[in-house]
Amino acid sequence: MSEEKIIPYKIYLNEDEIPKQWYNVRSDMKNKPAPLLNPGTLKPMGFEDLRPVFCDELIKQELDDTTPYVDIPQEVQDFYKMYRPSPLVRAYCLEKALGTPAKIYYKFEGNNTSGSHKLNSAIVQAYYAKKQGLKGVTTETGAGQWGTALSMASAYLGIDCKVYMVKVSYEQKPFRREVMRTYGASVTPSPSMETEIGKKINAEHPGTTGSLGCAISEAVEVATKTEGYRYVLGSVLNQVLLHQTVIGLEAKAALDKYGVTPDIIIGCAGGGSNLGGLISPFMGEKLRGEKDYRIIAVEPASCPSFTRGKFAYDFCDTGMVCPLAKMYTLGSNFIPSANHAGGLRYHGMSPILSQLYHDGYLEAVTAEQTAVFESAQRFARVEGILPAPESSHAIKVAIDEALKCKETGEEKIILFGLTGTGYFDMVAYQKFNDGDMTDYIPTDEELEKSFATLPKVEEI
Ligand SMILES: *Cc1c(COP(=O)(O)O)cnc(C)c1O
Repeated sequence: MSEEKIIPYKIYLNEDEIPKQWYNVRSDMKNKPAPLLNPGTLKPMGFEDLRPVFCDELIKQELDDTTPYVDIPQEVQDFYKMYRPSPLVRAYCLEKALGTPAKIYYKFEGNNTSGSHKLNSAIVQAYYAKKQGLKGVTTETGAGQWGTALSMASAYLGIDCKVYMVKVSYEQKPFRREVMRTYGASVTPSPSMETEIGKKINAEHPGTTGSLGCAISEAVEVATKTEGYRYVLGSVLNQVLLHQTVIGLEAKAALDKYGVTPDIIIGCAGGGSNLGGLISPFMGEKLRGEKDYRIIAVEPASCPSFTRGKFAYDFCDTGMVCPLAKMYTLGSNFIPSANHAGGLRYHGMSPILSQLYHDGYLEAVTAEQTAVFESAQRFARVEGILPAPESSHAIKVAIDEALKCKETGEEKIILFGLTGTGYFDMVAYQKFNDGDMTDYIPTDEELEKSFATLPKVEEI
């Protein structure tokens, strides 16, 4: 082996090395993700069908399975410069604490006020809405990171932003709500009494504290019924994964500078956008047969879409107003148990990642939340960053893999995505610190119940 270059704690790219194009991994996939279907007719949806809901340029990106590289608009590049490039950190301190010969790197996306990678796509979606001459955008938010990111992007571009926030989070995370309002967004607890679907859900489930699927339905209804508004979504969709490739492209460029090639790439998976974004350029090499990587998705044991879900067409929302997507899903009625604290609670998974997983290009594992918080604490104490619970799923498995190397003596190179910070998750941390955190794994019977609601779709 040749003499290794000394690798700094943080590899920063220069500002002019921020990617100028996103990479569309679909262009290298033999089996493309399945098309979205109309929830009424169950027919594939084209550009015109999607126009009432989404912005025109974003629909083009959603449907484009062939263009390998897509230009990042100059205005978006300029916005990216406020908080990018994000650092790629060599976790020397964690390696030392673990006593592992593995070399661990993480790409940290929490260096902006929204505290997560979600801003990478929020600014793009707000930009195309503005360019189309729209007045504003509507969306849902669960824990609040996406709503915060979209509020920031909308404020910057001077468009209106209406956020439907899952009621339980609205009440439990008042500070998230106030951040959004500070950036000018209107925030409504969901289900509300402002929409038809909200009224219906409230009538059917009195006292419900809401769910992401229900908030999505409300946001879509408002977008389609209000002149000059469109709906935007922070994960799952192909376009979002495309925008998030800025993470992987930067990470790869930084590693390439030092001639480092990861053996294992790990990311947490909720709707799949950060994981998809991180792995895309590496996956491209794998799909083209140029290189091989072990790629691992980590999901909560309490919301196991990949590992226990079905690969099938399903509704993306509770009200069944959104297009249907073919994905690994737990059923659109699935709601993680009440003690689940760590985010990543969406019932479905990105159609791109679902297809790649189905075709054997990535692995998936689950983690239970107390183990996730133990890893979060361990990481925080040596690396300094207070990680988001979502991100800590990736930390958990990175530590597991590094400890395996300790046993075998292998010097594997591990890269993981550290998607955000956990400052707004202190209620969950408190539970953990007090020893009150419990784990819950859904039973097969519970999952069967929710699979029973999957729509019957003839595969074409
Ligand atoms: C939203 C979020 C996630 C999960 O979303 P993906 O679309 O799966 O990436 C992970 N980490 C943080 C910090 C988030 O805010």
